[in-house]
Amino acid sequence: MCLEEMLDVEITTGAIYHIQSKKRHEFTIDYALRQKTLHAIEEIRHNLVNNILPKAEYSKRKCDNCSLYDFCLPKIKEPKTLNSIFKPVEFNG
Ligand code: SF4
Repeated sequence: MCLEEMLDVEITTGAIYHIQSKKRHEFTIDYALRQKTLHAIEEIRHNLVNNILPKAEYSKRKCDNCSLYDFCLPKIKEPKTLNSIFKPVEFNG
């Protein structure tokens, strides 16, 4: 959707490369996927503005090898806030 806006073109297919299987998976970019994407963007924006970090749901299959595990802490019961994890960067100069 960003590429469409930047390049003024319509893009109807996308692809994801899955490293473990070494396979490329193509998918159709249709109205339903666009709506789902816009909804996710709105939800992320809402969470950022309101300092909400959604509770992660632990899944052994997904989480045990995830590079974000130490930040995400999916086994913790109490949800954290974004500000408790990410400290604002101060620039001097
Ligand atoms: S540890 Fe990784 S896979 Fe599990 S919930 Fe967090 S981000 Fe998702």
